[in-house]
Amino acid sequence: MRSIALRPFLQLAIAVVALAACQSSSYPTLQASASTLAGPAAQNVVVVVIDGVRYADSWGDPTHKNVPNMARDLVPNGAFYPAFYNKGVTLTNPGHVALTTGHHQNMSNDGTELPDLPSVFHYYRQHTGAPATDAWIITSKDKLEILARTKSTDAAAGFAPAANCGVKGLGTGYRDDTTTLRVARQLLTKHKPRLVLINLREPDTQGHAGNWEGYINAIQQSDKRVTEFWKWLQTQPHYKNTTTLFITNDHGRHTGAGMRFKNHGDNCEGCRKISLLVLGPKVKAGEQPTQSRSQVDVTATIAQLLQVPMPKRDGEPMNELFR
Ligand SMILES: [Zn+2]
Ligand SMILES: [Zn+2]
Repeated sequence: MRSIALRPFLQLAIAVVALAACQSSSYPTLQASASTLAGPAAQNVVVVVIDGVRYADSWGDPTHKNVPNMARDLVPNGAFYPAFYNKGVTLTNPGHVALTTGHHQNMSNDGTELPDLPSVFHYYRQHTGAPATDAWIITSKDKLEILARTKSTDAAAGFAPAANCGVKGLGTGYRDDTTTLRVARQLLTKHKPRLVLINLREPDTQGHAGNWEGYINAIQQSDKRVTEFWKWLQTQPHYKNTTTLFITNDHGRHTGAGMRFKNHGDNCEGCRKISLLVLGPKVKAGEQPTQSRSQVDVTATIAQLLQVPMPKRDGEPMNELFR
């Protein structure tokens, strides 16, 4: 099954190598041959990861009182998954790495360990010839700069995306989510990247502080900020009507009352169950796909949207999302 599914990707990879050999400036020469990849294409893809939100405290509450803006303004225009999961390690770095590499890795959560495999960001650059500034990792947590790197020795490893993480990169500490979103708007305006991941950290930070009010307030602020960010994208000529946005989480938090919300990291339903809302020009608006999906399926879907072959990944494209 798997080798059959990979065959078109291998053929494309061979075609890409041949193409690159006879054209010195290959950006963006891939489009014709990449059309052999099945599924809809997207001009731009943005992933926003809201760190450490428990489903029960956001979408699992039927009144949506902590996510009112997304529920009112975004859900009718997008596809929402009631059954979406982190199926790997329920910590920040492994959760994000599952989203970017399409592979579950039991790895350090402190920024000292790199992903085993290149990410869809690497493959995107390798297969389009796009410059580093066409793919960005923009995160409130400095330790997520590892998403732009890999310990792989594959050729794709040489095609790292650009990164703007934490106060001033790996090892310099976390920054506010408002700063991260301001920086993101500046970088998108300046470089017009086609592929972007943004991490917002504040619900997770407030959760670990054991501050219930702060945690709920951070979910509500994230709801407002992400809704505003989508509306801002729709004011930008480069992104308006051409951008697919994935709004998701890296992990949830422990199930249970009292201080259970403070931590996460095991196999409980609260840590595993997260949310996924997808918006974009080809997305079925107002849909609630019944399929159970997980983070590695997002990676496969992004690769398909950008028409980039991804030789090593565990997920499958979420074709049910698209018209
Ligand atoms: Zn955490
Ligand atoms: Zn748990």
